[in-house]
Amino acid sequence: MLKIGCHVSSSGGYVSMLNDTKYIGGNVFQWFTRNPRGCQAKEINEEDLNKFIELAKENNFGPFLAHAPYTLNCCSDKESVREFAIDVFKQDLKILKRVPNSMYNFHPGSHVGQGKEIGIKYIIDALNEVLEEDQETLVLLETMAGKGSEVGSSFEEIKEIIDGVKLSHLLGVTLDTCHIHDGGYDIVFAFDKVLEEFDRIIGLDRLKAIHLNDSKNPVGAHKDRHEVLGKGYIGLDAIEYIINHPKLKGIPIYLETPNELDGYKYEVNLLKELYKGE
Ligand code: FE
Ligand code: FE
Ligand code: ZN
Repeated sequence: MLKIGCHVSSSGGYVSMLNDTKYIGGNVFQWFTRNPRGCQAKEINEEDLNKFIELAKENNFGPFLAHAPYTLNCCSDKESVREFAIDVFKQDLKILKRVPNSMYNFHPGSHVGQGKEIGIKYIIDALNEVLEEDQETLVLLETMAGKGSEVGSSFEEIKEIIDGVKLSHLLGVTLDTCHIHDGGYDIVFAFDKVLEEFDRIIGLDRLKAIHLNDSKNPVGAHKDRHEVLGKGYIGLDAIEYIINHPKLKGIPIYLETPNELDGYKYEVNLLKELYKGE
């Protein structure tokens, strides 16, 4: 069975996110732990969380992917921004301890002109500070499009970060199809080659989540503008190939296409039709 869902609004709480997922025909979801532009995390409503845990179990839903806010930049040139990132990271991981079957996805960051090497070093330092020995939540580095000074647009950069982290068994990778396509990986005509490269450099066992998005821009554009499935440069044939790839079996897929719930419902349905497995 496909593990599939979309990014849902967290404003109504956990049960509401689960209901949205049911509505679109999914069984996994992604959410922002707080306003994506930063700000305070919301208080946990105990009743809501407990009900959610019960329902998730009952429905066999998950894993659930928490997305860090976009303002979290572990490799900024400003110390205050890096400290804020570490703070948010720690708070979010603390929240996720309470959410069974959850993972934490973050953008490695933008080095803002300091250079990739320094950026990577800061990201490693941050991870070494926030990860804890007894932690269960996996932390996923998201592959990026290479817009501006983004770090993490090549598999080599992701690997370099993982290699520098002491508790690296807690790290995984989210493959965002729009991002790697925009980053220059030709997933339309050479998906097998791209996967082989991922496996050789990072290792496929690190791949824990897929952000399935089409792209408004051609391969290598370094833009990061998501498109609804089939309407962009990646196209439905490639998407069908990706979701049916035997090496990606069982990896949860999260849609981040520009849609409201009904649009996601349509896409989940479409993907179920394109899926050849059980
Ligand atoms: Fe993201
Ligand atoms: Fe993404
Ligand atoms: Zn994106």
